[in-house]
Amino acid sequence: MTVCAQTTQGAHWLRKGGLVQASKRISGVVGADGDGWGLFFRARALAEAGHKITELTIGEHDIRTAAPILQAMHAAAMAGHTGYASIPGTDALRDTIAARVAQHTGVPTTRANVLVTPGGQSALFAAHHAVLDEGQRALFIDPYYATYPGTIRAVGGVPVPVAAAPEDGFQPRGADIAAAAPGARSLLINSPNNPTGAVYSAQTLAAIAQAVIAHDLWLISDEVYDTQVWQGAHISPRALPGMAARTLVVGSLSKSHAMTGSRLGWVVGPEEMIALMASLAIHTTYGVPGFIQDAGAFALRQGPEFEAEIAAPFARRRKIALDILQGQNVVRALPPQGAMYIMLDIRATGLSGEAFGTYLLDHHQIAVMPGESFGRAAAGHIRVALTVEDRSFAAAFETLVSVACKLAA
Ligand code: PMP
Repeated sequence: MTVCAQTTQGAHWLRKGGLVQASKRISGVVGADGDGWGLFFRARALAEAGHKITELTIGEHDIRTAAPILQAMHAAAMAGHTGYASIPGTDALRDTIAARVAQHTGVPTTRANVLVTPGGQSALFAAHHAVLDEGQRALFIDPYYATYPGTIRAVGGVPVPVAAAPEDGFQPRGADIAAAAPGARSLLINSPNNPTGAVYSAQTLAAIAQAVIAHDLWLISDEVYDTQVWQGAHISPRALPGMAARTLVVGSLSKSHAMTGSRLGWVVGPEEMIALMASLAIHTTYGVPGFIQDAGAFALRQGPEFEAEIAAPFARRRKIALDILQGQNVVRALPPQGAMYIMLDIRATGLSGEAFGTYLLDHHQIAVMPGESFGRAAAGHIRVALTVEDRSFAAAFETLVSVACKLAA
């Protein structure tokens, strides 16, 4: 009999009588520092055991996918779109994504530039798989979305963090990227950023483009939060001079359309690369269900008003959080410019993000993500997701701030 013992330190397939050798690659997906999800899993386990936990952990909306999108999904399934669907994506969905990207960025984009994937995570995997050979260095900006290093290791690459400092508003510096670039093949960026809320400025993106071109890197630009911008404007680096030929943009309907469970994302990039990646899709996912793709095309056709409606609660809760933070100076925040989180600097409490998060969960039943889950550059911080309804959010956030103030006193 085979059983799976999944630990945060790695997955091992065990069999009665001994360990069957797993590949070094799969055993190494989770790095030595763990995968950063420990507190989250503990909070989930407590909630499942019946404890009332306010979960401000992952980027999951407090609303479900809108009924008209589900009706479109149902209608597509009932109409028979339940067989194998076109593997790189249906023409209709690829055309809709291409038109949207062209309209937002001004970069000519056709269906040949689009590969549909089961979610943005799969797009991140496919993009790194497409640009990295075994053992090659892949840069990414720290703080980072928790799956990034594991995704790079999963394709045999070597993850190399490049720190962005809180003092710089978590905007990376071109010089730091250039310093890490020798021997690297790729740079992964994410704006609007999870976890920091930074929206990269035109200046930051110009410096990134310069470093990427100078060192002949691929740029993988994770833009899954592009509809959640509260300050500044989202600029896709694919639109910068010379960048369309070396940029793979990762997109998804998860955040923009509250469709996390539908697993619908994409990669936009040079035609030749997308054609190569379509062969990866044949040998991995074999495409995305047709009825989900039809619902995705329907969702995208709802337009910017619908996307603004989905984003609105996060803007409201961002304001609630910033208002609560007024009048104290223990918990500091960089007002998030985008995305559905607020990153708090709790160093004045004398605790690490992990210790503060543990205290908050154990004593106040509030779950947040420790900054350390997102890299060394986020140590001494916690990330609070703006993902519960306004009143509960305000109450939990007030508790969090008063706990920090007491601990700092
Ligand atoms: N990138 C970032 C920065 C994210 O925060 C997430 C999900 N939290 C993803 C990619 C992946 O999203 P999905 O696979 O649901 O599209």
